Amino acid sequence: MAPRVIDPKQVVDALLDYGAAIAARPPGEPPAFTADPEANAFLASDPFAFLVAVICDQGIRAERAWAVPLELRRRLGHFDLQRMAAAPHALRSAFATRPALHRLVNTMPIWVSLAASKVLSDYGGDAGAIWGDEPTAAEIQARLQAFVGISQKKAAMATEILERDLGVVVHELEGSDVAFDVHLRRVFLRCGLAQRDDLEHMVKSARLARPERPGSLDFPVWDIGRRWCRPTDPRCDECAIGAVCPRLVAAGNGVRGM
Ligand code: SF4
Repeated sequence: MAPRVIDPKQVVDALLDYGAAIAARPPGEPPAFTADPEANAFLASDPFAFLVAVICDQGIRAERAWAVPLELRRRLGHFDLQRMAAAPHALRSAFATRPALHRLVNTMPIWVSLAASKVLSDYGGDAGAIWGDEPTAAEIQARLQAFVGISQKKAAMATEILERDLGVVVHELEGSDVAFDVHLRRVFLRCGLAQRDDLEHMVKSARLARPERPGSLDFPVWDIGRRWCRPTDPRCDECAIGAVCPRLVAAGNGVRGM
């Protein structure tokens, strides 16, 4: 069989079309971070809940991570930053109560407590002040990465969600980035947008592919990675970009990670 012709522009256009389709929702409805409308409303209305979800989005399914803030509030009986900062042991108990809120049951309570302390000391107790002054995408990413437990991946993802789903004003979106996670790495290699599995190369590849907003490639790629472009037996014929993807499946087979 002749090799499929690679046209990166067609791949990028298909990714953006798919991203727009899955991000669409009725006006006024909060984004569906989880299957629970109450959890979604809490994430959309409480900036510290959003920050806690970002911190927890590691090592477990995203839907479970984004459900943590509401359940944490239920278990604690409050969502008070002063108390969370002062009593990490209470957070530890809340996280560890069965069923445990997170796989990293020792680490996450510490990171959440440190985040509460930092919001109190640096942002006057208002997590919304992290992104509330109409910053650039690069500024938001840098501010988020200054929190213990927020990596490049989480900061880039959060910046996109804030602008795209939560209506936060973000300037200079050309400074946004894709999140270097396992789905992005696998899909980028297989669809020919990147040739090497390293952070710097992937980020640069996204900037070249979509200079006006590199981060806009993040959501569709993440979703495609979970839905069709699985580590083994990718379902190319069903994939949203299957018609234009070069299907370099072997290129992504070595990608490992959570
Ligand atoms: S599932 Fe197939 S068509 Fe879709 S991105 Fe992966 S390799 Fe390309």
